[in-house]
Amino acid sequence: MVEARRDKLKIKEGQAVAFDFDGVIHKYSKGWQDGSIYDTYNPEVLDLMLILNTMKVPVFILSTREPKQIKEWWNKQGFALKAEIIEANTLFFNNLSYVGITRTKLPAQTYVDDRGYKYTGQTVKEFLFDFTEK
Ligand SMILES: [Mg+2]
Repeated sequence: MVEARRDKLKIKEGQAVAFDFDGVIHKYSKGWQDGSIYDTYNPEVLDLMLILNTMKVPVFILSTREPKQIKEWWNKQGFALKAEIIEANTLFFNNLSYVGITRTKLPAQTYVDDRGYKYTGQTVKEFLFDFTEK
C-alpha cells in the first residue's frame, strides 16, 4: 500500500522528520515516573521511522531527555538502524545511515509529537475553543 501511493505522498526525500520520544516512540503509559525508560516501544512508530529512512527521509529523535540515555536504550532494542547523537552545531540533519538524537530543535518537514498543536493561523478565541471540553 505504501508503495502504490508513493507518487502522491507529501513527504519529501532528503528533508528530515522529527519524532518526539516520550508518548510517541516510548509508550510512556504512566508519564515521567523516575525518568527511566520503563515502557515498551510503539511498534507502529518504529516501522514508520524505518520505512521513512528507506524512502531516503532522514529521521531524528527530538527530546528533552539526555540524548545518551535514548541512544543506549535504542541500541539495546535490536532495531535495523542504529541511533547516534547529533553533533552540536549541526544545522540540518540529513544522515540516512543512522537515526539522530538531539535536544535541539533542528529543521524538519514535520514534527511527530503527542503534545503538538498544529498552528494554522488560529485566533486567540479559536485556540481557546480547541482547548475547551466539548
Ligand atoms: Mg511527548
